[in-house]
This record gives sequence, structure tokens and C-alpha cells, in this order.
Amino acid sequence: MSTGKRAVVIGAGFGGLALAIRLQAGGTQTTLLEQRDKPGGRAYVYEDQGFTFDAGPTVITDPSALEELFSLAGKRMADYVELLPVSPFYQLCWEDGRRLDYVNDQDALDRQIHSFNPADVEGYKRFLAYSRAVFEEGYVKLGSQPFLSFDRMMQAAPQLAKLQAWRSVYSLVSRFIADEKLRQAFSFHSLLVGGNPFATSSIYALIHALEREWGVWFPRGGTGALVRGLARLFEDLGGRLELNAPVARLETSSGRLSAAILEDGRRFEADAIASNADVVHTYKALLANHPRGQKEARRLQGKRFSMSLFVIYFGLERQHTQLQHHTVCFGQRYRQLIDEIFKGPKLAEDFSLYLHAPCVTDPSLAPEGCGAHYVLAPVPHLGHTQIDWEQETPRYRDRILAYLEQHYMPGLRDDLVTCRTFGPLDFQHELNAHLGSAFSLEPILTQSAWFRPHNRDDEIGNLYIVGAGTHPGAGVPGVVGSAKATARLMLEDLNR
Ligand SMILES: Cc1cc2nc3c(=O)[nH]c(=O)nc-3n(C[C@H](O)[C@H](O)[C@H](O)COP(=O)(O)OP(=O)(O)OC[C@H]3O[C@@H](n4cnc5c(N)ncnc54)[C@H](O)[C@@H]3O)c2cc1C
Repeated sequence: MSTGKRAVVIGAGFGGLALAIRLQAGGTQTTLLEQRDKPGGRAYVYEDQGFTFDAGPTVITDPSALEELFSLAGKRMADYVELLPVSPFYQLCWEDGRRLDYVNDQDALDRQIHSFNPADVEGYKRFLAYSRAVFEEGYVKLGSQPFLSFDRMMQAAPQLAKLQAWRSVYSLVSRFIADEKLRQAFSFHSLLVGGNPFATSSIYALIHALEREWGVWFPRGGTGALVRGLARLFEDLGGRLELNAPVARLETSSGRLSAAILEDGRRFEADAIASNADVVHTYKALLANHPRGQKEARRLQGKRFSMSLFVIYFGLERQHTQLQHHTVCFGQRYRQLIDEIFKGPKLAEDFSLYLHAPCVTDPSLAPEGCGAHYVLAPVPHLGHTQIDWEQETPRYRDRILAYLEQHYMPGLRDDLVTCRTFGPLDFQHELNAHLGSAFSLEPILTQSAWFRPHNRDDEIGNLYIVGAGTHPGAGVPGVVGSAKATARLMLEDLNR
């Protein structure tokens, strides 16, 4: 059924794409405006000399939320993209050579936990039960509900209190598990959505249950193939995707938005506009001439933002068959290192890394016999450090590659075919990310749910927010959930 109305979505990240699909499928003529030459946002794709590098998300969880986007449009996801299972979910590695293959097979997992500390097998069971309870409450029930009023927040409060949501993920894990390496293994997940395990609410322990429930997946052809599938679905539904279309400002009339104006002056009129762009950029730059924009930008700039990332994409002329698809390489320090990443002021000498080796699942991402990889190190955002990234980038890149070569990938630097980096300044300049944050507002309890920027603006009635900066937050399942919450509000408003 057509609403007879027009919507504009600014930004084709996972959140913007999912929202545009829902609006178009809901009968609203939707235009998706993306500043870059490809959709995907943080899930951009680089191609070089036969190598394909997914720039961002590689751990795809909750495939049912993605399948829902296709089924509501009367299509099958399998006709657009194939998801391949990944096992182990991750290999967790420490410098002393200890390894843990985090798998979904309970017996195999118990055996490994036992080898670290026999008493923790029982503790892990209790942690998993906790994680499942918080997954039901925080993800299944509330993950795609907009929190527009404080009353809504208060309704959820008793259950959150019962689940001890004021505790940090690490402190919660430590209640159940005694071994320090296992504590790291079951608490690092919040880093994947920009949360400090020592500060983020224990509700983020739900990520563990989410992975155990639905598994870890990787699209054939890379995450970029999933992005292309979603963009094709949107266009098949009749949606209009405009690439190389940076929005410069939003036009208002009588307190409501009337159009999005591009840098080249093109004008897209709309009854409703949603922004998938960074929240500070949305209010500060796109609403620069509106009092609401300046007021809200000032308020948001006082919030805590997640760390940035330094990512190295590299192609090698040989394969490293000893690697798993996803490796987490823990350094010698955990708590202190994370503290320095979230607070600065310096770039630590040591690091904890995530290493991506997608050819383990899909060899087509590199020329025959070669390997495509990326490695990322969390680093302080631009508000916490005075690092001169122009100067630091080659030095930091070389240090990380030397470390990988020493501990995980012998001979790496001799086999390099191609190499590029993406750091805090790139997040800031290419994605308009405030302070170069990789995940937007830090997911702490006082910046979650109602305390996060709302899915519909409180004052401009036809301005909506979707993506990592709004509820529920970062990560592919999070932003796809935000699209569900925002689409429901928009379609209700447009159908009025
Ligand atoms: C390196 C990395 C690895 C990650 N790994 C994982 C993972 O394995 N699993 C997982 O679930 N999550 C992961 N994440 C997190 C996840 O990628 C993000 O939280 C999510 O993709 C953000 O989606 P979004 O909808 O908020 O939009 P974004 O991806 O931030 O996209 C926003 C879009 O808006 C566009 N835009 C901005 N300003 C304008 C403007 N003025 N006009 C037009 N367009 C504009 C940008 O170009 C961009 O395309 C990772 C993130 C990073 C950076």
C-alpha cells in the first residue's frame, strides 16, 4: 500500500540501507543519498590487484534480522546473497602461545575451558545463562523498540536492575569465571561495538548469547556482497539510490524539514528525512542554520564517544593456512591497555589486535594462492590525543606488521603485494565521524536506550535518526535493529 509520501535517507550504511528498504517496502517513495561512490559506509570495499578487502564489519551475526528485510519485501535473501557459516567463531590467542577456539559445540568449548581452569566450566554455564537472560530482555524485547520517552525507560528499569545492568561486562564475567584469560575471552565482545568491557553495561554481555544462538556468518564474496544485495533489493523495490551525493544541509520550513540540499545544489524534497550520518555531523553541519541543530550538537559534543581504530588492509602473495578466519590477538596487558585506548593521551607501545583472514572461508577474495587480510588496533579517538597521524601512520603500520610477523604470520613483510591504512583522520574526513570515533557514542548505561539520541528528533517532528548513533547502537545487528525502530515511527507518521 502506498503512503503517497516521499522520504529521504542520508547515508547508505547498513542502518540507512535497512531503513530505506523498510520505507520503500512500506509504500513510501524513498531516495537514499550517499556521499561516497559505493554504499556500505563502514562496510565499504577496497579492490586492488585482484584482492577484495572489506573495510569494516566481518563478523556477521543474527542473520534472521537480515532475512527479515528480504521477506518483508516478498523476496528470499538466498536469491541475493549467500551466507557461509564460520567455525570457530574466533580463535583467541595470547602471546604465551595459549589458544582458545571459540566454537558453538558445547562439549568442545567445555574441554577447552577445562584446560584453562576446571572450575570455570561450571562458571561458564552460569555466565551463559546470564547472557541468555540479558539477550532476551535487551535484544529480543527492546533491541528494535524506540525509546522516545523516559516512561518507556522506567518500564524497562526493574528488569535491567534485576540483571545488574549497572555492573560492567568484565565485572559480571568475573563473578562467574576466575581465570584471567577466560575473563578476557568472554568480555572482549563489547569492543566490537565500541564498548570498554570495564565501563560498558553488562547488558552487552548479550553479544555472547546472540552468537551462540544464531552463529557467526560470512557472506560469499565478502560483507560487500551483502551490502550490494541490500542495495539491489532496495532498487528492485523501486527505491532510488544516489551515489556521490553529499548532503550539505537540510532545508526547513515552519519548523519542519522540507528538503535535503546536496553540495552541488541539487534539492531533494521530502515529507520525512532520516539521517544515517554521524549524529554530531547531522545536527552541527546539516542543521547549521537551525537553532535546534546548534543546541543538540552542543549537547552531543559533551557526551562520551567510542574509541577509533587503525586498520591495515594487506594482500599477500601466499596463504597462511595456520590462521582461522577471525583471530583475536591479546597483548600482555588487558585492563591498562584498554584504559589507555579509551582515555589516551598516548598511543600505547603494545596492542591487542583483531586479524581478518577471509580467504579461509572464501578464497575468491584473493588471486589464486594469495591471501587478503586486515588487521585492526583500537586507538584513542581524536579528542583524547594529540597524535600527528600523518607522521605516525607509517610507523604504527610497520610496528603492527612486524608484530604480526613475529607472532602469527612468518615472512609477512616479504610477501606484501598491496597495503593501505584507514585511521582516525579517515573516519573523520571520509565518514564525517565526530572525533574520528569508529562506533559513535560510547555504549555506557547513561548513553543507552532513552539516553541515546532518539530515533525521532524531539523537536523537529519529521527528522529521524538511524544507525550507530541512535538506539540500540553500533554493530550490524544494532543498526539493523535501529532501522526497524525508526521505520515503524516514520511509517506511522507518514500514514497519519
Ligand atoms: C573496522 C570496523 C570493523 C567492524 N567490525 C564489525 C563486525 O565484525 N561486526 C559488526 O556487527 N559490526 C562491526 N563494526 C561496526 C559496524 O560496522 C558499524 O556499527 C555499522 O556498520 C555502522 O552502520 P551505520 O548504519 O551506523 O552507518 P555507517 O556505516 O556509519 O554509514 C553512514 C553513511 O553515511 C554517509 N554520510 C555521512 N555524511 C553524509 C552526508 N553529509 N551526505 C551523504 N552521506 C553521508 C557515509 O558516507 C556513510 O556511508 C565494525 C566497524 C568498523 C569500523
